Amino acid sequence: MPTIKIHLLRCGTIALSREAVLGGRESFLSALRQTAASPKDRLTLPCFCYLIEHPKGLFLVDAGVGRAFSPDGVYDAAALRALLGAPLAAYLRPSVEAGRSIGEQLAARGLRPEDLDLVILTHLDADHVGGLHELRGAGRFLLPEDEYFWSCRTVYKLRQPQRLWLDMPLERFWYRGSSLGTNRWAYDVWGDESVMLINLPGHTDGLCAVRIRNGKRFVLLASDAAICRENIETGTPPGFCFDAGLARKALRWLGEQEKDPDCAAILLSHDREQTRDTICL
Ligand SMILES: [Zn+2]
Repeated sequence: MPTIKIHLLRCGTIALSREAVLGGRESFLSALRQTAASPKDRLTLPCFCYLIEHPKGLFLVDAGVGRAFSPDGVYDAAALRALLGAPLAAYLRPSVEAGRSIGEQLAARGLRPEDLDLVILTHLDADHVGGLHELRGAGRFLLPEDEYFWSCRTVYKLRQPQRLWLDMPLERFWYRGSSLGTNRWAYDVWGDESVMLINLPGHTDGLCAVRIRNGKRFVLLASDAAICRENIETGTPPGFCFDAGLARKALRWLGEQEKDPDCAAILLSHDREQTRDTICL
């Protein structure tokens, strides 16, 4: 197969408490406490989206922090409260510099949303779908049914505001039995195993990692199954997850994948040490 190019696009930042990134007791109350973390106790993290040049089509994974979050390119408490609600705005503290939202970065490359064959959403957290409205016109939007089902319910309603995604033409898919992932569920986008969406529950129930394969070599876009390398190295899940036991299982699985000689890279959506702009596979 010809070379596949994976472009890493930094679409804004979030500023999370250290406890949220590096683990800690996860509970609704601890999450609420983290909304009050001072700036010095926070880590500023990039929000990666991925633009992939694939023989089957041009596609995007996730939509990052949207321009609507940050109209003037800086942290905007009033805009965020209106879009996300005060607790989530204080928890994430997202912003996106001028020229960095997903729509703006596509335009800078001479691309319109209509040029995208596909947009894959790994899950519905606000920092992954914030730029979704900037992508109106793209060919298809794919989302795991399990993510959609839970996002309308329980505590997910707080972390995944529906106004960010409910009016978009999302095509929901069912995972199928697979040898991949901790739940052994995956979805084969083009029926040739070149792009597999692999369920890794923990951070959310429906979250998918995206495995892109060319021949035997593969790159794994792990979304928020880990927030930073330390999570994988120590087996400690991020503080912000729905089920810490499942999140630990996902970290172990990522660690196993990393040891596979055919694994070219595991990319995390908020890896502050990531320096690469493009990976060729
Ligand atoms: Zn995230």
